[in-house]
Amino acid sequence: MKSKPFRYFWQSIRDMHRFMPFLLWGKLTASIGEGILQVWQPVLIAEIFGLAPCLTDANRHIFRQKTIFLCICVGFPAVCSMILRAAGLYGEGRKDKSYGWNMFGFSRGIRLEALDDAKVLDCFQKADAAYSRHLAGSRMFSYLLMNVESVLVCISTFLVVGSFSPWLLPGVTVGFLFHLLIDIHAERKRTETYRGQSMKRRRLQYFWRLFCTKESVKEMRILGFHNYLKEKWVAANVDVVQEMEELELKAMKLSAAGVLVKNLCYVANVAIALLLMVKNELAAGQFAACLTAFGLLQDKLFMLDTFLISFLNSYHHVEEYYDFFETETDREGTETYQPFQREISLCDVRFRYPGAQSWALDGVNLTIRKGEHVVIVGVNGSGKTTLSRLLTGVYLADSGSVCYDGRNVTEIRRKGLYQDISAVIQDFVHYRFSLRENICVSDFRRKEDEEHIRNVTDAVGMQEMIQSIGGLDCELGSEFGGRELSGGEWQKVAIARGLFKDSGVLLLDEPTAALDPIAEYEILTGFLKLIQRRTSIIISHRVGICRHADKIIVMKAGKVAECGTHEELKNAGGEYARIWKAQAKWY
Ligand code: ADP
Repeated sequence: MKSKPFRYFWQSIRDMHRFMPFLLWGKLTASIGEGILQVWQPVLIAEIFGLAPCLTDANRHIFRQKTIFLCICVGFPAVCSMILRAAGLYGEGRKDKSYGWNMFGFSRGIRLEALDDAKVLDCFQKADAAYSRHLAGSRMFSYLLMNVESVLVCISTFLVVGSFSPWLLPGVTVGFLFHLLIDIHAERKRTETYRGQSMKRRRLQYFWRLFCTKESVKEMRILGFHNYLKEKWVAANVDVVQEMEELELKAMKLSAAGVLVKNLCYVANVAIALLLMVKNELAAGQFAACLTAFGLLQDKLFMLDTFLISFLNSYHHVEEYYDFFETETDREGTETYQPFQREISLCDVRFRYPGAQSWALDGVNLTIRKGEHVVIVGVNGSGKTTLSRLLTGVYLADSGSVCYDGRNVTEIRRKGLYQDISAVIQDFVHYRFSLRENICVSDFRRKEDEEHIRNVTDAVGMQEMIQSIGGLDCELGSEFGGRELSGGEWQKVAIARGLFKDSGVLLLDEPTAALDPIAEYEILTGFLKLIQRRTSIIISHRVGICRHADKIIVMKAGKVAECGTHEELKNAGGEYARIWKAQAKWY
């Protein structure tokens, strides 16, 4: 990643123009207008004070004009700040549709393996906070504009005061610069610390979510580890908060010194102006203008300092937002996917999870022919799930190849490939939608295809359940007042969802883990009938299903230990026979 300062600045301005033109141009116009009009205030005051003692009929109309202009200069900023507030609200309302969608659009292309990487998750969380809490570039832009306005006012006031006497300038400059440098230093430290804490903060959020999530609250109550979790949360919280508190305390001490120096400089400046007036080097009107200008400068320099720091702070969030877009995306292939006709083959495939020390798959070779029903078995952690992810192109191999009819998945356009794959994964989602939607999300175009829905729900034995809940359009999940299902019933819904998509390849990862043996038997025979012409890959701990398989792949320590039919492997007396015997004892 490039570490050029402000490398995302123009990108964020371009995005603002794309997403929120009103915010960009409205704020720019209002801020510049406000700045220019305020610049005139001390000039007009000096002129009005100069004219007031010597008013004649000839100069009365000039006096009037200048007074009206002064009123406009004082009143217009109020209008501008209303425009700015409206622009702020507009930005707040559109942030999800613009920055949010931009981010989630990009996240669709991220390599799925990357989502197992803690650093990527940190990056994701920071980018999410950057747009949702800090409104990405727009907040930075607001602070920039506020700075522009303050800079304009400060420069012009400097020029006006300097034209009265150059002796009036050093005090203001020194005080301001001293304060500013201290604040910039504190802001840098703050950002460094905040970034260093990202993993700790994510952990803190994780603990907090455990207190608010239905499943964990229930488990916590039953197993009684509420206090233990609370202590963990408190410890994590103390760790994060203490570090920030110490930092803020140091920053406050330094900042107080800065303010003191700045105020001393202000007092010194007033004294110098008074001295100059006594020595007749400054007219009374100029002295009055100086007092207004010093007040304005004191205000504006303080604002400039505050806004500059806020600008730097918001820019750090901009960096976090745009850094996310540098996450590695899927190596997208160029070839259009053609449904495979012969086989899926793996040749010496190795795969390691991000940050892991050992290979999850270590030199896997195998072939699955079109239309075969394959069951992958093996003990926990032997690599079954990982293998299924590589077989379906969801994860890409670190070395070796996964080919569909001889074409490497890395060369195939992923979208086309995924259209031909359906899956029931272990941690499937319980969507708080209607039952119909829960089934049809895998192929929404067929949402009203009642016959297809009935075939699928019959195959997984759901008819009784559908009747008992009052039909397919019943909302599921108690969170929003819908019907809650049992674990086994949710599992049937997930299987129906996987079957509903009419894909060439069907992957089922532990599809019957939550089902009772009778339901398991019914479902397995039902869906094997339904998927007769499709290629299925079933991952299971339970070897009972293997009798129906065309091929059994036995995984052990990331390698294929055995491959064959039930009879062949049972007679071979190897790993499969051992698992079979161990499970047979239970029945
Ligand atoms: P199985 O499905 O046979 O239980 P997996 O394929 O899930 O096994 O896991 C194979 C190996 O990869 C295990 O050693 C496991 O610890 C490791 N593993 C699985 N998922 C991850 C992950 N997200 N990050 C790091 N290692 C993982």
